[in-house]
Amino acid sequence: MLDRLGTGLKDAMKKLAGKTVIDRAAVEELVKDLQRVLLQSDVNVKLVMGLSKSIKERALDEEPPKGMNVREHVLRIVYQELVKLMGKECEVTLGPQTILMAGLQGSGKTTTTGKLARFFQKKGLRVGVICADVFRPGAYDQLKTLCNKVNVPCYGEPAETDAVKIVKAGIKELKNTEVLLIDTQGRHALEDSLIDEIIELNNITKATHRWLVIDAALGQQAREQAARFHEAISIDGVIITKMDGTAKGGGALSAVAETGSGIVFIGSGETIEDLERFDPDRFISRLLGMGDLRALMERAEEAMGEDDFDVNAMMKGKFTLRDMYKQLESLKKMGPLKQVMSMLPLGGLEIPQDAFDVTGKKMERYKVIMDSMTNAELDNPSMISGSRVQRISTGAGATPEEVRELLKYYKTMQRTLKGFKGMGGGKFNMQRMMKKFGG
Ligand code: GDP
Repeated sequence: MLDRLGTGLKDAMKKLAGKTVIDRAAVEELVKDLQRVLLQSDVNVKLVMGLSKSIKERALDEEPPKGMNVREHVLRIVYQELVKLMGKECEVTLGPQTILMAGLQGSGKTTTTGKLARFFQKKGLRVGVICADVFRPGAYDQLKTLCNKVNVPCYGEPAETDAVKIVKAGIKELKNTEVLLIDTQGRHALEDSLIDEIIELNNITKATHRWLVIDAALGQQAREQAARFHEAISIDGVIITKMDGTAKGGGALSAVAETGSGIVFIGSGETIEDLERFDPDRFISRLLGMGDLRALMERAEEAMGEDDFDVNAMMKGKFTLRDMYKQLESLKKMGPLKQVMSMLPLGGLEIPQDAFDVTGKKMERYKVIMDSMTNAELDNPSMISGSRVQRISTGAGATPEEVRELLKYYKTMQRTLKGFKGMGGGKFNMQRMMKKFGG
């Protein structure tokens, strides 16, 4: 999903993370990198300029909040400004409402109407659908088939050419529904008659929402389409479809900005279930490679609830075998290491693959081996010489190779965690990081 945008943003952030000092030149370079990535992804020039101006001004003028270093401060600003670019957070009410669907032909409007019917139905609401697309011959059959699959009534009159007539009849027919979805006609291009029709449909349906469906692969034209529809019926939410198929997606974001609304849903596939609610924070965290901080925190807290698990031990600069022992125990509760790592805010930091290659069984072996070590060895693993390896392996009923393998694993972890330390610029504290990025 938006691979090019994601990779570009991650690269820019990685470059920033690797800088020894964050000065004016570093900020300017970062802003240039961001501009290039966003423009390549079809985000409108004006938006890109606005965003880079805010980032630059804030990064250079604002004092970092207490306890936050310059690097974290800049990262946070980039994050916040990108979230802002996504538009407002759009609430979806789960009550009676009428939703008018707008968009050009091929945008995915009909498919999305079916997906929405399914979405509201799953929330326990009575849903009805009207097909007012009198332009595309197959539209009614397509929508009817989708609705039949999930047992949602679909009203349409395939032979009728007057959309207003159909909608009036449909409203009567479906008066017992709580959520009424109206699929309107889309043409190849924006024409005055199309706009006039949708204005009239908006008036007679007294629609609660007017959602615009935009294809994620659409480039700069997306903005113009959005502007016309918005002018006509005041769009209050955008649905971006085909997010599964595009590396760019910036055109659709420009459309969102044009309407001053936000993204309500994204379409991520062709089946009726492929619709996701959109959460700007989560989306940008993923794009920036900061992982899903919230999910990780929840899991860490669950694990902590049981005993003295210290999530920070993982990230402390001084990482001993004793820390690793504790870590191995806690990880059992937190889930597979790879998954945990993928949720950490690494900013695109590379993790050596062998850091993950530890199975639960091996962890148990490692713990047995560590039980044969002295406290001094656990605190200072570098003192473990050849003869000590021999003694430890005999004590644990293991081979010297196993002991050496454990020490190698330890070194990999230590190196990885040093990388973390560089990212955070000092002691890395999970809770602190969370608080900063949360608001
Ligand atoms: P309409 O003319 O706007 O009503 O467009 P349709 O709903 O007929 O969709 C056009 C094409 O896009 C169809 O082949 C759909 O299956 C496909 N489509 C719609 N939404 C998505 C999506 O989120 N992902 C993918 N991959 N295809 C989609």
